[in-house]
Amino acid sequence: MEIKFYNTLTRKKEIFKSLNKLEVTMYNCGPTVYWYQHIGNLKAYVFSDFLRRTLEFNGYKVKQVINVTDVGHLKSSDAFGADESGEDKIEIAVKRERKTAREISHYYFNLFHQDLKKLNIKEPFVWSWATEHIKEQIELIKKLEEKGFTYKTSDGIYFNTSKFKNYGNLAKIDFEGLHAGIRVSMREKINKTDFALWKFSKPEDKRQQEWDSPWGIGFPGWHIECSAMAMKYLGETIDIHTGGVDHIPVHHTNEIAQSEAATGKKFVRYWLHENFLTFKGEKVSKSKGGLFTLSELEEKGFLPLSYRYYVLTAIYRKPLDFSLEILENAQTSFKKLKKICSKIINDDKINEKYLKEFQKAINDDLNTPKALSVLWELVRDEKAVGKYKTIKKMDEVLALNLLEKEETEMPKEIKELLEERQKAREKKDWKKSDELREKLKSLGWEVRDKKERWEVEKV
Ligand code: AMP
Ligand code: ZN
Repeated sequence: MEIKFYNTLTRKKEIFKSLNKLEVTMYNCGPTVYWYQHIGNLKAYVFSDFLRRTLEFNGYKVKQVINVTDVGHLKSSDAFGADESGEDKIEIAVKRERKTAREISHYYFNLFHQDLKKLNIKEPFVWSWATEHIKEQIELIKKLEEKGFTYKTSDGIYFNTSKFKNYGNLAKIDFEGLHAGIRVSMREKINKTDFALWKFSKPEDKRQQEWDSPWGIGFPGWHIECSAMAMKYLGETIDIHTGGVDHIPVHHTNEIAQSEAATGKKFVRYWLHENFLTFKGEKVSKSKGGLFTLSELEEKGFLPLSYRYYVLTAIYRKPLDFSLEILENAQTSFKKLKKICSKIINDDKINEKYLKEFQKAINDDLNTPKALSVLWELVRDEKAVGKYKTIKKMDEVLALNLLEKEETEMPKEIKELLEERQKAREKKDWKKSDELREKLKSLGWEVRDKKERWEVEKV
């Protein structure tokens, strides 16, 4: 069955065909590991995981690389016309937490990695760390230098965007017109859009992370890391590259320019971008709200997979508005779905009709809300056969543990009350035993006494 993806490069839904018939190469822009990844960031990885699983469902092998940015992402370099003079995010954390850069990056990466596991996100072929690929980044800058795309200023080596013919094609930005009014700190830059490939260390910054290079001691720019690592592991032309929509105008625009200038080949065939998790219509942020970590949601009683379910209820290309109430509703539906699924008995057949409908939905640019509605229809269809195996197959992509038998985690307080009640029963103190049963009931746990034993269930 054909797969269609919306390609940011052409602004169209296109039929997907990989370069290599059986294996798809995919690069996902990964985390900058200087702080906790919030649920907005995690949305990006639920999306790329769903994308990978969709390709696998269609019989492809996926060679997936996710980078870990542990150097060079400057505080100012996300914005258009960044002046490239901001501080390195990792170095800021080093000063804030009085730890080594390595301790910082590994600490935040490990937390992030645990979150991915909780969200059933698969491991990539490689996690590529920027600091482990300095040599490759220097080589790529050297290549650009040889081809005349670079120039030197007092603070680094820059890419001359006016030398690259199609600069800004991805973002479809009329840089001259649209941004004429934007004030960009030019310093020694030739063009507003030029960006640093290599930055020189300033002695007063006392950087922890710096390396020798043909141009002087310093560190690589953020954009070059992705080009160098994507090409190292996946080749000069890759099938799919993903990231959040915020990466379109600067980071991905620059990745294309450097990579294509260096190789003379098309860098990425399909660019896929997921839209933001928003709070009251604006990107979740410290000042606007909605900025939770997955652990914080867990502390509030949410299951990590309820968050995955919630993300899948929306089209990835549209902003997704978040609030605890909305998530609560999603969790209620998700729990209901799981409860129904957990009671389905394996009858060893596949329901081809429903599975086809499901595949049609995911192959249509990852239409996850449609896919979920097909699943809901199937579970509610009393006449449908082959439910178990079909749901199992669907869950290879949804990854919601739908058929897992429910095991409700019992809080310590409940366990203690049950123990106390058991002791009362052994002493034949029926009054106390009844009181404790009522207390448990008020806490949402129903105890039923049977002849030899008792049972307890969360209601
Ligand atoms: P960062 O760690 O800042 O480099 O971001 C990691 C990924 O999360 C990038 O692909 C961003 O585009 C994405 N991202 C950041 N904020 C949000 C958000 N509010 N909603 C969805 N994706 C986001
Ligand atoms: Zn990147």
